[in-house]
Amino acid sequence: MVKALSVTKRFGTLAALDDVSLEIAPGEVVCIVGPSGSGKSTLLRCINQLERIDSGAIWVDGELTGFRQEGGRLVELTDRDIARQRLASGMVFQRFNLFAHMTALQNIIEGPVTVLKRQRRDAIAEAEALLARVGLAEKRDAYPSELSGGQQQRVAIARALAMKPRLMLFDEPTSALDPELVGEVLAVMRDLARSGMTMIVVTHELGFAREVASRVVFMDQGRLVEQGPPAQVLGAPQQQRTRDFIAAVL
Ligand code: ATP
Ligand code: MG
Repeated sequence: MVKALSVTKRFGTLAALDDVSLEIAPGEVVCIVGPSGSGKSTLLRCINQLERIDSGAIWVDGELTGFRQEGGRLVELTDRDIARQRLASGMVFQRFNLFAHMTALQNIIEGPVTVLKRQRRDAIAEAEALLARVGLAEKRDAYPSELSGGQQQRVAIARALAMKPRLMLFDEPTSALDPELVGEVLAVMRDLARSGMTMIVVTHELGFAREVASRVVFMDQGRLVEQGPPAQVLGAPQQQRTRDFIAAVL
């Protein structure tokens, strides 16, 4: 579903991603862990083309991102084509980025109606089903300011799902939440994982990673240091840097 090959992303002289290669099969749930500044967000942002990579290549759902072949050479895609490719992935951020002036339902139907040109009536029916799926059927007409952080984040997940992505990217979706609200968001993510969605989750919730991830990736200083099944990377890491990080987080 995702293939990154020797991806490098620089900000000035800093290599935020340094020769990162990673392959993710359909249905996999990959948790990315690592210290602050290790390049976790940058990797997600490169996968969904919020950032342009400096070298290497990324494929999403079999399609090379950012470029197309033309007579044996690569030509940069237009903004319009990049926007189309970006629809393959849904992204949920640390801060709930809901539209403040729209209700939960309006937030969810906005993309399907304006971008996908869906019939409003159909979009509403699907949004109601998604609200039920994230446990918020009764909050259909609530504004973000009337919702808790955990509820807002669940609406944000429903909004991303409404675009029918083939891949979901989560960037520390629970780290801005009060501790008692973390569980309800992780529960929605767990259900999504069980439904077979391909997910890449940047998280410090090692319990979630241990339980739900098919694979854990540890990053440090822009590099992919270690990856493997959660029991291995979290329980018996091979690399000293991974051991140090896990000891500090636990
Ligand atoms: P955190 O856990 O704090 O969210 P992270 O692992 O997500 O960290 P990134 O946000 O990917 O780290 O940042 C990787 C490096 O790239 C950091 O050193 C950061 O300062 C730098 N960086 C990220 N975005 C930019 C930017 N737009 N301009 C300049 N430097 C940036
Ligand atoms: Mg980050």
